[in-house]
Amino acid sequence: MACPICSKPAQKPYSPFCSRRCADVDLSRWLKGGYAIPGGGAGEDEGDGVPGPNSGENNDLEDR
Ligand SMILES: [Zn+2]
Repeated sequence: MACPICSKPAQKPYSPFCSRRCADVDLSRWLKGGYAIPGGGAGEDEGDGVPGPNSGENNDLEDR
């Protein structure tokens, strides 16, 4: 399977993406791009458990 973001071969920890970065890219697209929860509010208060771009760990290690 190829990464839907950059078409590189996917890596298992990030499947179907090739890297954490691509997974983050897809996730942010998903969140911004018309992702709507019917009834809303279920995930509004996230902040824990979701690694953000500032987590700093492994962000670039697997990225080529
Ligand atoms: Zn990728």
